[in-house]
Amino acid sequence: MIKQRIKKLAVMTSGGDAPGLNACIRAVVRTAIFNKMKVIGIQHGFEGLMSGDFIPMDANSVSNIIQLGGTILKSARSEQFKTKEGRLKAYKEIRKENIDAIVLIGGDGSFEGAKAFIKKHDTPFIGIPKTIDNDISGTDVCIGYDTALNTAMQAIDKIRDTAQSHERIFVVEVMGRDSGYIAYGAGLSGGAEAILVPETKADDNNLEQILRQGWNRNKSSLIIVVAEGDESGGALKVADTVKKHMPSHYVGVCILGHIQRGGNPSAADRILASKFGFEAVEALLKGKQNCMVGLKKNEICFTSLRQIKRHHLDINNHLLKMLTALTN
Ligand code: ATP
Repeated sequence: MIKQRIKKLAVMTSGGDAPGLNACIRAVVRTAIFNKMKVIGIQHGFEGLMSGDFIPMDANSVSNIIQLGGTILKSARSEQFKTKEGRLKAYKEIRKENIDAIVLIGGDGSFEGAKAFIKKHDTPFIGIPKTIDNDISGTDVCIGYDTALNTAMQAIDKIRDTAQSHERIFVVEVMGRDSGYIAYGAGLSGGAEAILVPETKADDNNLEQILRQGWNRNKSSLIIVVAEGDESGGALKVADTVKKHMPSHYVGVCILGHIQRGGNPSAADRILASKFGFEAVEALLKGKQNCMVGLKKNEICFTSLRQIKRHHLDINNHLLKMLTALTN
């Protein structure tokens, strides 16, 4: 652990946006200022790091943002940063601006970028995990997941009103190309009859059985939640399958899409983002670097960026048993 005086700290957001980024930026800026550091914001993710798109930040520049979705620093994806020439360009801008350390609020892709950078260059990074997909190792929960989950759950509640009144089947598609966290959480909290996630194999027969069982039990509505990346092919394909099995029923489809990324962050996300922002700066002050702050079993923890990878929902037998019992 190298302890060095950090005079100037930079903060950036990278990858897809998620509710809670602004609360996190605020916490980083305020904690750094409290500790007498200068702070700058890097705009547009790694693109802005390479082009020197920096703005000075003070306590006022993060006023009234804790409740806002999106990111005041903007976010972007960058192909150029994947090249060593791009990363060298970024390093030159960092040296020109005298940046001593960078707080990177990003997903697993952004951390791959930081890993590639620190192999060659000596600017320390601290990562803060954000993604509505909640699929980053080294933490039980990422900024944005709770809000996205609540958005999806509330949508299911609303769809259920119509499903119930008209005795219909609805297939609701939620985000998650490789991750079933939103589908699992929204399905469980929304009382869905079936939950289809990318981590398990789709089983048409099983789906038919679940639906028939529900209908035979005189349920007046059935909700199927499917993650966009589930191998069944998403909500439209699932609806076709259901129609084939139950041709006399109306099968509605609702694809929630990007509404899951936006909106005011939940209290849980604001608190998590505030804690992560504070702890990231505190860790740098204590000499920690090139690691990611996380929360495991409700305790703050740090994991080397080198060990961070994409993480998958653990569909174990116990979880399956619970889902079978509750969706019955
Ligand atoms: P999310 O997936 O939640 O949107 P993310 O941080 O995973 O967030 P990505 O688009 O995967 O988002 O990555 C963000 C940026 O990180 C990329 O646009 C690219 O600039 C950089 N990056 C990703 N992988 C690498 C890599 N292997 N080497 C260098 N840079 C990378």
